[in-house]
Amino acid sequence: MSTIAAIATAQAAAGLGTIKISGENALTVADSVFSAVSGKKICDTPGYRALYGKVYDGETVIDDAVALVFRAPKSYTGEDVVEISCHGGLFILKRVLRAVLNAGAVPAEGGEFTKRAFLNGKMDLSEAEAVMSLISASGEEARAATLNALDGALSREIMACRDKLAVTAAFMAAWVDYPDDEIPELSDEEMINTLTEVYNRLDKLLSGFDAGKAVLDGVDTAIVGRPNVGKSTLLNALSGSERAIVTSVAGTTRDILEETVRVGNISLRLADTAGIREDTDDEIEKIGVKKAKERFDRASLVLMVLDAQDGLSNDDKELLAMCENKNCVVVVNKTDGDVKLSLDELKCLTNNIIVEISAKNYSGIETLTDAIEKTVGTANFDPSAPLITTERQRNCVVKAAESVKEALDGVSMGITPDAVNVCIDCAVENLSVLTGEKATETVVNEVFANFCVGK
Ligand code: GDP
Ligand code: MG
Repeated sequence: MSTIAAIATAQAAAGLGTIKISGENALTVADSVFSAVSGKKICDTPGYRALYGKVYDGETVIDDAVALVFRAPKSYTGEDVVEISCHGGLFILKRVLRAVLNAGAVPAEGGEFTKRAFLNGKMDLSEAEAVMSLISASGEEARAATLNALDGALSREIMACRDKLAVTAAFMAAWVDYPDDEIPELSDEEMINTLTEVYNRLDKLLSGFDAGKAVLDGVDTAIVGRPNVGKSTLLNALSGSERAIVTSVAGTTRDILEETVRVGNISLRLADTAGIREDTDDEIEKIGVKKAKERFDRASLVLMVLDAQDGLSNDDKELLAMCENKNCVVVVNKTDGDVKLSLDELKCLTNNIIVEISAKNYSGIETLTDAIEKTVGTANFDPSAPLITTERQRNCVVKAAESVKEALDGVSMGITPDAVNVCIDCAVENLSVLTGEKATETVVNEVFANFCVGK
């Protein structure tokens, strides 16, 4: 396999920057651009050692640097690896990389270091996916959850399920194939217990997916409501800055303004929209209203704002009805003055959680946060539990769970053991695809296609 190299740190001015080289010739390539003050060669240096010296491009000194040496198989990729750390200016890093490439390395593709780690058995596919999530993780809980996945929490859970299924399948196969031997029959009850346990564990993984996704990726959120109820004020209150223009003139917000805010343990990609009202003659506002409706349609969470100092209008009622099929929190704003809106009437119109706030005075924001966490399902999110984090993983678990269910139904209906075994094998197969043991090359390439260069 070729020796690859890339800039592993951010492509920006920084104190330090690192060029990573991995492959059979990593040590000799590094030796031809690096010269240690001590005169030692990288090739003669054992693993886990650092050398201080200078990086050269031909005869020219580029920078002072430290070379970290890792020897196969004890490295991230499982190959010989040298990391050259120098000053972090992008110009310097690019020059060092060029020198390294001139010395015989080839540019690494996105995710190639991690792909090699996977191919060399350093991690399984779900752990490789966790590396990707960890790089883009925002917030403490997202970081903890992905680090946990990287540590193999998901792999262990999947393998535990798979082993239980495999043992059952082996037992049944032996019993079917060698009916004359004294293999004790697995009772239906034992089998149902094992299959039910596995099914429940897979189901638990699936039910954590949405919450996990919300914590890891954030949630597309639309703030909707008719004009002047305080949507822009709410956006400002949640983001802690004056992002949106607030006026008492209805129809001020026309374009969609987006802002990412941290609310509890999740990031909301908040969109403040034009107030949705049908009876406007203003052409620009009409476009704003159309855009607001589109944003509403694709939002995973809706904050539907009402004005407490006003009764419920037809526009409000129509919007409330639209929100019934959505993850939605109904926000009764402006509770700081004379309240006209009847909560009892409102409760008859919606099944969503209702919270009372004053966006202007920042009151009720905590209650709103709790309501959002509850609605999105992240209220009881446990970052230490095994978590599926990609559609690919989810797909594998869905298929495995379906097969286990089929096997379960089969046992209860008394179908032949080998028919049950076909279902169990299918579940085992899908779980093996998840961890990458049985993933096709196409699947593997797809997983790594989204990685950044240098990881
Ligand atoms: P939008 O059209 O829904 O975006 O509403 P804005 O955020 O622009 O606010 C409309 C008006 O309501 C402004 O005059 C705000 O100062 C006022 N407003 C917003 N929130 C509150 C609140 O919690 N209490 C009171 N009393 N007024 C508010
Ligand atoms: Mg507005």
